[in-house]
Amino acid sequence: MAKYENLIPRFLKYVKINTRSDPSSTTIPSTPRLTAFAEGLVKDLEAIGLENVHINAQSAYVYATLPANTDKQVKKLGFISHFDTADFNSENIDPQIVENYDGKSVIKLDAAGKYTLDPAVFPNLKNYQGHTLITSDGSTLLGADDKSGVAEIMAAMEYLLAHPEIKHGEIEIGLGPDEEIGTGADNFDVADFGADIAYTVDGGPLGQLEYETFNAADAQVEVTGTNVHPAEAKGVMVNASQVAMDFHAALPEHDRPENTEGREGFFHLYSMNGTVDTAHLSYIIRDHDRAIFEDRKKLFQGVADQLNQQYGSDRVHVTIKDQYYNMREVIEKDMTVVDLAKEAMEDLNIKPLIFPVRGGTDGSKISFMGLPTPNLFAGGENMHGRFEYVSEQTMEQATDVVIKIAQLSEQQA
Ligand SMILES: [Zn+2]
Repeated sequence: MAKYENLIPRFLKYVKINTRSDPSSTTIPSTPRLTAFAEGLVKDLEAIGLENVHINAQSAYVYATLPANTDKQVKKLGFISHFDTADFNSENIDPQIVENYDGKSVIKLDAAGKYTLDPAVFPNLKNYQGHTLITSDGSTLLGADDKSGVAEIMAAMEYLLAHPEIKHGEIEIGLGPDEEIGTGADNFDVADFGADIAYTVDGGPLGQLEYETFNAADAQVEVTGTNVHPAEAKGVMVNASQVAMDFHAALPEHDRPENTEGREGFFHLYSMNGTVDTAHLSYIIRDHDRAIFEDRKKLFQGVADQLNQQYGSDRVHVTIKDQYYNMREVIEKDMTVVDLAKEAMEDLNIKPLIFPVRGGTDGSKISFMGLPTPNLFAGGENMHGRFEYVSEQTMEQATDVVIKIAQLSEQQA
């Protein structure tokens, strides 16, 4: 029998429920189907035996508590994941199970074989020899991101309740909506949650441990032109589309996503439209280094200022909005939360893989609310599309890590 008997059945039950979040919505959560899913989670968490199970009104997160079973003063741990899924077809998800994968075969997702998981295309498949893989049927995503995290945290809590000989402090769990549309953590209620340190269980393959993310801003450029008849344009016309192109050309050519990796930041033009009269450019600005990030924003505004000076009027208007910051700034003040996870993985013979994320996590926001929250692997591969898959064995190991962190933090208190 499996070590965590409800881990996979619960995961399969959850992925079959459509919880795609809605990026066009302004409500919390973004769609009623997320409320319905949260209400189901409340019942399941109560059935496991967790306490204080409730939906937090501010964030629509489901919170629950596992009381301490030790007299020691232990830091309250939090484990967080999200149950919404990415912007991809999530209707009628039909998970497929591939037992004892050989690490080299091409896996047909649909019966006709229109979509396949091919190790030549997805080389990570080679890491899963002997594993049981769970995939989609090719018509939807799977939703391992992040229902694997949800199922793992729940399995770990269930295990701790069934094994009182494993001593631990109080543990808070938070399962939330709308991570995929970037808004879920904005409303996270740190005070109600009540943890001292926390982890999101929302990373990818075995061993991932992330505590460094981008600093991130969104930047919009609005250009106003002067439209006159082209025949009589000399010295009069200001072509907004031309000014927009000049703006883009003035940004450093190398600093684009397609030219950068590791800790290199960028300006990413993700949308543009324009006429002679007006033009609009949309960018995201990213950098791991806070000082360079601030410089990038200054440079961006500086290009606009220079063009305005050139035209002698306010042609180019820039609006920059910070989105999130590199959580490392918060976490490196006290590395306990990272060290604990590292040690837990090493105790379980899992090699911690620590790399800066070229993106953000819910922890990027939650850490700046005063709760240091690095990210642990949940096991998923090829997230956000039809090629998503996860290994049962990796999900068990992620569950092991959650339990081990709880145990170590008590032993070290
Ligand atoms: Zn996720």
